[in-house]
Amino acid sequence: MYRLRFHGRGGQGMKTASRILGAAFFLAGFEVQDAPRYGAERRGAPIFAYVRASRTPINERGIIRRPDLIIVADETLVAIPAAGVLAGITARTVLLISSAETPEVWRQRLNLAGPVITLPRSGTLTDPHELRFIGAACAGAAARLVGVIPRDCLAQAIRDELAHLGAAVVARDQEVALEAYDLLAEHAGCVAEIPETPADTYEKPRWIDLPFDAANLAAPDIFAPASSEMVPTGLWRTVRPVIDYERCRRCAWICSTLCPDSTIRVNEEGFPQIDYEHCKGCLICMTSCPSHAIRAVPEEEAGKATG
Ligand code: SF4
Ligand code: SF4
Repeated sequence: MYRLRFHGRGGQGMKTASRILGAAFFLAGFEVQDAPRYGAERRGAPIFAYVRASRTPINERGIIRRPDLIIVADETLVAIPAAGVLAGITARTVLLISSAETPEVWRQRLNLAGPVITLPRSGTLTDPHELRFIGAACAGAAARLVGVIPRDCLAQAIRDELAHLGAAVVARDQEVALEAYDLLAEHAGCVAEIPETPADTYEKPRWIDLPFDAANLAAPDIFAPASSEMVPTGLWRTVRPVIDYERCRRCAWICSTLCPDSTIRVNEEGFPQIDYEHCKGCLICMTSCPSHAIRAVPEEEAGKATG
């Protein structure tokens, strides 16, 4: 069986990537499970999706705890423990990261013994509005690494899964996915197929009894007032909303009210100001600004501009 886990942020197409890869496995003759896992958060929050594929019926259920391949669409997630990117990694797990840095840098940074492969962002994916296609790139790369999915099954899976979005979207996703598939040709088949664990080898978890405290002692952070401000949700952002004050008409009741995280304050002159420590980059403010005074800048680019 193959056990694969995609990690990314809401809006980067990880759910779609798992569906495409699942469909491609199916077309190649495998039994498949694929499912995403995310909470109530919107764009920018860490999510993961997983795929199991086997030549025989799959009896395993639930999230994948010991993945054979971890695919990371957004390298900033690796540093966030809550995202669980490295959960269950073993010496034989292949780690694929979408990153401009080398595998060696990542191996040393994470102190990993197992194989690490990087997927440089496609030269055609520089437009921030195209970042959602990163999911297709990850699906194409994963299809190549398992080595059992022919190119035409990948292309057909994209057609089957995305046909409802129109021919142009299908064509672009195919282009991006097949580019990644070709790019990783030298690593084809590096993810090993592992036999399903027989049920009679199941080991019960070693439970630890914890003392039972009253809720206000056991979870003081949750019960303390105004604690959400301590969570730097700005780390989730992949694109930054930037206000052009020349175009802004000071109708800040619009953007400041619609921001789901109340991160837009209004200054004494009536201009909106974004708190980037907490803005998670959902871009609701950009889409609702009647003057088109807010634009989206990729976080990497914005970070360089502000030093
Ligand atoms: S909605 Fe747009 S124009 Fe109005 S205050 Fe906000 S940024 Fe400025
Ligand atoms: S400031 Fe804009 S992008 Fe940031 S969280 Fe609020 S609505 Fe979303």
